[in-house]
Amino acid sequence: MNDSGFLGTLRARVAGLSNRGIELKSVGEIEAMRAAGLVVAGALRLVAQHAKPGVSTGELDELAEQHIRDAGAVPSFKGYHGFPASICASVNEQVVHGIPNRSQLLVEGDLLSVDCGAILDNWHGDSAVTLAIGAISEADQRLSDATRKALWAGIEAAVPGAKLTDLSFAIETAVREAEEAEGREYGIVEDYGGHGIGRQMHMEPYLANYGKPGKGPKLKVGMAIAIEPMLSLGSPTTEVLDDDWTVVTDDGSRAAHWEHTVAITDNGPWVLTAFED
Ligand code: MG
Ligand code: MG
Repeated sequence: MNDSGFLGTLRARVAGLSNRGIELKSVGEIEAMRAAGLVVAGALRLVAQHAKPGVSTGELDELAEQHIRDAGAVPSFKGYHGFPASICASVNEQVVHGIPNRSQLLVEGDLLSVDCGAILDNWHGDSAVTLAIGAISEADQRLSDATRKALWAGIEAAVPGAKLTDLSFAIETAVREAEEAEGREYGIVEDYGGHGIGRQMHMEPYLANYGKPGKGPKLKVGMAIAIEPMLSLGSPTTEVLDDDWTVVTDDGSRAAHWEHTVAITDNGPWVLTAFED
């Protein structure tokens, strides 16, 4: 190895250490992730348009998969640790990782969380929405709204120079504000959180949805994080069903889940899985 090669390796190592193993993307790579993110956004929009009483979660899965493949992308969930579908469809007390099924028909009043991921040109996008099936209760609508607001509070905190847990704190603070405004309590689901994303779906760092600010790695331009708060109307703790996938609240209370893939840029957070910039 010549001197410049050695120095290059050394610099890469030092950079890697200072990033604590978090993948840094170039501007062009973030733009490639945006393309993957838009495929996911399109799949979720299609699912939202069709999620009505009488429709099965299996049908929604087929729509999402077709949309992803038509875009030249690959559904990242399908086959991931053996997961059998292209979306997670989690109904009511199901928090995440519900398995869509042709025989599971949605009914009026259901609260459906849909999580979707796609790989385009080796880059990942990951996003989730909670959908009202027909008319839902006011409590369920507020739960979903509070979760979505918490997501956007986390997104707004995702600026260069912030510490990772500044996002956790922003998410938790938004939840506490919603609780105060509504005179009720939400459970912030404890065992699941956000994650780094890029050439793989789940990368360093893990992002808790609650906690003190000012800890963890410093966010740098070129990092990308999937931010995904999950709230319940009751307990923050969960169980996994016998299918080894479906995560439910342990008290049976309803849950909501919103997620976006976000890039840290010089201009602030870029929400790669949202249509509006
Ligand atoms: Mg997801
Ligand atoms: Mg995710």
